[in-house]
Amino acid sequence: MTQGFDTLQVHAGTAPDPATGARQVPIYQTTAYVFRDADHAAALFGLQEVGYIYSRLTNPTVSALANRIAALEGGVGAVCCSSGHAAQIMALFPLMGPGLNIVASTRLYGGTITQFSQTFKRFGWSARFVDFDDEAAVAAAIDDDTRAVFCESISNPGGYVTDLPAIAKIADKAGIPLIVDNTLASPYLCRPIEHGATLVVHSTTKYLTGNGTVTGGAIVDAGTFDWSASGKFPSLSAPEPAYHGLKFHEALGGMAFTFHSIAIGLRDLGMTMNPQAAHYTLMGIETLSLRMEKHVANAKVVAEWLENDPRVDFVTYAGLASSPWNGRVEKICPKGAGALFTFAVKGGYEACVKLVDALQLFSHVANLGDTRSLVIHSASTTHRQLTPEQQQAAGAAPNVVRLSIGIENVEDLIADLDQALAAATA
Ligand SMILES: *Cc1c(COP(=O)(O)O)cnc(C)c1O
Repeated sequence: MTQGFDTLQVHAGTAPDPATGARQVPIYQTTAYVFRDADHAAALFGLQEVGYIYSRLTNPTVSALANRIAALEGGVGAVCCSSGHAAQIMALFPLMGPGLNIVASTRLYGGTITQFSQTFKRFGWSARFVDFDDEAAVAAAIDDDTRAVFCESISNPGGYVTDLPAIAKIADKAGIPLIVDNTLASPYLCRPIEHGATLVVHSTTKYLTGNGTVTGGAIVDAGTFDWSASGKFPSLSAPEPAYHGLKFHEALGGMAFTFHSIAIGLRDLGMTMNPQAAHYTLMGIETLSLRMEKHVANAKVVAEWLENDPRVDFVTYAGLASSPWNGRVEKICPKGAGALFTFAVKGGYEACVKLVDALQLFSHVANLGDTRSLVIHSASTTHRQLTPEQQQAAGAAPNVVRLSIGIENVEDLIADLDQALAAATA
């Protein structure tokens, strides 16, 4: 990184608007762009010249956001799309085909487990879920048809931290990319590419936007993976029939994945981010480091307070000295373990439901990474479609409540939890 994170979060990917000098990135609310002449149009469609054609593919506001996220993650390129779930499909689309599989962590956002285990089947893809603390099991789950290894840096809902360098080593040895969902950490707390990730995916809906206004997603490419080393990734290494036989890796080198994702992924899947959403997320990212510092500081205080409260059975926050994953925080996310974790209320499911209803300052919503503190009972909501075994493995058992700690005054958050715990355990 040439400039510091705080500088990049307000400057990267954006220069004053060349047409007007506007200092803030304009919202280019347009579907199409006038070609200079027929040759220009042909050059753009042939990828001989980079420019704007149609906003399903690229838009200047969305591109500014993609470039900023790529800079913050330390990647060579990024593509934005309509949601975090879209980003997961877009990340896998160039790599996968019928009969192929991915090896994924059991500790994932519930919606991701459902997408991978159910909807993937419609494409002929499959996912094998493994405990990523069991490195031998991860290696053993990979076979000749595996095209990616997938995990979250800090995982939803438990705040568990993955040993990214260890997993990257296993993926490297198998010659397949490691894809890391970095939503919960944000690039301020963790930069998975520095730990060996090939692709980083985001739900920009969460901390990057930061205030619960728009959904969005992003895929960042490290630019380092050799797509031609094996015959496993023909969409990138062989003549691509969906783009008049272009060999993306040969023609575009480190930008092959990014160009493929735009020229074919966005073109044919159409999971496009709109410029208004990109604007909100650009505004959010300008204060990312300031917000994350406060999120983490508050989360630590709340987690420690809960851990010492007799009405609470346990707290999963990896930032607690008592957490089995505390040792990884220093290595993977030294600025903090994020601000999302679960805790078990004495009294189980009934007490959890009462607690959620009694909280007043915490909003009961299915979201995270908002400036506001949020609460949800994962087992009956975000992780509802999972089997009891999957819920347990994901850290979303019926006796735990998930908190997303906001940037309010921490004393007010504790006062709210205190009165709600009293109501829940009375
Ligand atoms: C929310 C979330 C997603 C899905 O993102 P959407 O923007 O809601 O589609 C994926 N991964 C994690 C870790 C999330 O928290």
